[in-house]
Amino acid sequence: MIDGFSAQLSFLLVEAILCLVLTPLYAVSNDPLRVRKSVVILLNLTCGTMLLCEFLFYVYKGSQTPFDVAVMYIVNAAVYYLISMLLVFYTMLVYHRLFGRFDFKKDMPCKNRMLAVLALVTVETVLITVSQFTGIFYSFDKNNVYQRGPLFWLAMAIPTVGLVLVATVIIEHREKTTLAQRLVLLSYLILPMAGEAFQICFFGSSLMNIFMGFSVLLMFFENVIHKEKEIVKATKTKVRTGLANEHACIEWLNSMKGNDELKKYSAVFIDLRNFSSVNRIYGVKNGNRILASFGNIMHSRIEKDEIMGRQFGNLFVAIVKDRNLDDLLNTLKGIEVPFKDCETGAENKITLSARMGVYDIDRSDLDGEDILVLAGQALTVAKSKDTDDIVWLTQELLDSITDHKRLENDIKAGLKNGEFLPYYQPKVNLKTGELCGTEALSRWIHDGKVISPGIFIPIMEANDTIRLLDLHILKCVCEDIADWLAQGIKSPVISVNFSRRNLADPKLANKIDAVVRTSNIPKELIEIEVTETMDEFSISTLREFVDELHQLGYKVSIDDFGSASSSLTLLREIDFDTLKIDKGFVDHDKKKDLAILSYIVRLAREIDTDIVAEGVEQKNQIDMLDRLGVIVIQGYFYDKPLPKEQMTERLKSPKY
Ligand code: C2E
Ligand code: CA
Ligand code: CA
Repeated sequence: MIDGFSAQLSFLLVEAILCLVLTPLYAVSNDPLRVRKSVVILLNLTCGTMLLCEFLFYVYKGSQTPFDVAVMYIVNAAVYYLISMLLVFYTMLVYHRLFGRFDFKKDMPCKNRMLAVLALVTVETVLITVSQFTGIFYSFDKNNVYQRGPLFWLAMAIPTVGLVLVATVIIEHREKTTLAQRLVLLSYLILPMAGEAFQICFFGSSLMNIFMGFSVLLMFFENVIHKEKEIVKATKTKVRTGLANEHACIEWLNSMKGNDELKKYSAVFIDLRNFSSVNRIYGVKNGNRILASFGNIMHSRIEKDEIMGRQFGNLFVAIVKDRNLDDLLNTLKGIEVPFKDCETGAENKITLSARMGVYDIDRSDLDGEDILVLAGQALTVAKSKDTDDIVWLTQELLDSITDHKRLENDIKAGLKNGEFLPYYQPKVNLKTGELCGTEALSRWIHDGKVISPGIFIPIMEANDTIRLLDLHILKCVCEDIADWLAQGIKSPVISVNFSRRNLADPKLANKIDAVVRTSNIPKELIEIEVTETMDEFSISTLREFVDELHQLGYKVSIDDFGSASSSLTLLREIDFDTLKIDKGFVDHDKKKDLAILSYIVRLAREIDTDIVAEGVEQKNQIDMLDRLGVIVIQGYFYDKPLPKEQMTERLKSPKY
C-alpha cells in the first residue's frame, strides 16, 4: 500500500528528475528562438532544483542528527529562494512568448507590470533572508519541526500578487496566443493555487510545489512542441501583408549569429516612394491593399531561407542572399503591383518604386538588431539625398554618420553653453541712406570659430532643437536691445527668424511674447520672420500663428518670398507686414526675373505690404531696385551680418 506521504515524495522526485533530465536534451536541440530557449532552460533547471530540495526536506523532516538538521535548514531556505527566482523566469517566458522580448527599453509593452513583479521578487527575497534570523516566515522548533511564522501568509501573498499581474498581461494580450498556450501559461497561477487550497484543507501535504512543477513541465513541453511553429507564427504577425515583422527578422538574424553563412546575406531596408500620395489618390483602404499585394509579391519572390518583413507603414526589410540581391534591387526600381479597388471592385495596378539602404553583411558576430540598424542608416542617407535610390553602407558612410552624430551632440551642448549668438545685418533705406532695421542671424561660436547657419540649421531642423535655438536667439536679441536702450542708443526694429518647425508648438506666440515681456523692451522693436517653404504645416496653422502675433502686437514678415509655389495663396490667406523678396530674384538679371520682381513690388504696394530686398551685393542691383521702387535694402553691399560690438558702432552712426 502506498500512503499519501510516499506518493507525494515520489511525485516530487519524478518531477524533479524529469525537469533536470529533459533540460539538457532540449539545450542541445535546435530552436531558432534562442533567447526564449534559454529562459525555458533556466525555468526548468530552477524548478527541478526546487523540487529536489522539497523532496530532501521531506526525507530529512523530523530527523535530529546535526547533519540532517543542517540539510533541512538549507533545502528549506533554498525552496523559498528558488520559488522567487521561478517567478522571474516565468515572467520572462511569458513576455518572450507574447512580445518576443524582455528588456527595460522604453517601448517594452506592459513594462510597469514587469517592473512591479521584479520589485515584488526583490522584497520577497529580502524578507526570506530576514526570516532566516527572525523566523517571520517560518522557523524550526526545538524538536526541529518546521513551523509557519507570523508572516507566512505574506510569503505566499507576494508571489501570488506577482502571478496575478503576469496573468493580466497574458489575458490582455490573449490574441497573441492560442487557447491551449494561454491555459498552459496561466496554469502556473491556477495549479499552485488549487494546490494551495488543497493544502489548507489537508495541512501537511504540500501539493503546491508539485503542481508548480507540473505547470513548469507543461510549459516546457509546449515550448518544445511549438518551437518551430512559433517562428512561423511570429513571421505572420503583420497580418495585412502576411510578412514577418521586425521582431521576427531580428530573431531570424540572431539565429544565424556566429554562423559564417550569414556573411552570404545582405540586409535591405526598403522605403516605398511617395506612398502618402498613393494614399491620397487611392484612399487609405486601397493603400493598405496595395501594401498587402506588394508584400505578397515580394514574399513569393524570395527563397525559403530568406526573409522579407514589414517594419511599419511603407517601410520594409529584406534579408536576402547576396546572389539574389541585384535581382531584388532591380525589381524594386519599378514594380507593378495589382490590386482590387475597394470602392469600384475593379482590378487596378500601380507601379511602385523604392529607395533602399543596403548592408552587405560582412561579419557574423553582430546582433540582429544591429544589422537592421546599419541597413536603416544607409536608408536614412538614401532618403536625405534625392539623387540616389540605393545607398550601400560603407566604412566611409559609417564615418560620416559618426561625424554627423558628433556634430549633433556638439550643437546640443553648444545650446546649453550659450555658444549661439545673434549677428546683425542692417537694412538700409535708399531714400534717406540710413539704417532702418536689422535682421538677427544666428552664429555658432565654437572652438574659436564662427560657424554659419548653413551648417547647423538643417541639423537642428531635423532634430527639432531649432525651436530652442529660435527662442534663445530672440532672448539674446531682446537683451541686446535692452542694453542699447540703456546706453541711450536708438534701436531699430530687429527681425528674428523662426523656423516653420516651430509651428508644431501651438503656444509659440505666447512663448515669444513672454520672452519679449521679460526683457521690458517695446514690442514694436521685434519683428518675426517666417519662411515661405512648403512643409507639413497647413496654411491655416501659419495664419493662426500670424494672427496671434498680430493680436499680441508684433510685426510679421514673410521670408524668401517667391521661392515656393504657393506664394500667391499665402499672400491671399495671410496678412504679412513685410515681404522679403527671395535673393534669387535680385541676383539673376534674366528678363523674366526682372518682370516677376517688378510685379511683386507692385503687388506688395497694392496690398499695403512693405517690401525688403535682400542679398544685394552690387551697385547696379541697387539702381535696378530703386527704379522698381524698392526702398529697403539688405545685403553685403552695405554690411555683412555684424557681431554685436560692430553693430553698436553702426547704430551710433547709422548713415551710409
Ligand atoms: P535668410 O533668413 O534668408 O537670411 C539671409 C541670408 O543671406 C543670411 O545668411 C545672410 O548672411 C545672407 N546674406 C545677406 N546678404 C547677402 C548678400 O548680399 N549676398 C549673399 N550671398 N548672402 C547674403 P546666413 O546668415 O548664413 O543665414 C542663412 C539662413 O539661415 C537664413 O536665411 C535663415 O533662413 C537661417 N537662419 C539664420 N539664423 C537663424 C535663426 O536664428 N533661426 C532660424 N530659424 N533660422 C535662421
Ligand atoms: Ca530671414
Ligand atoms: Ca531670406
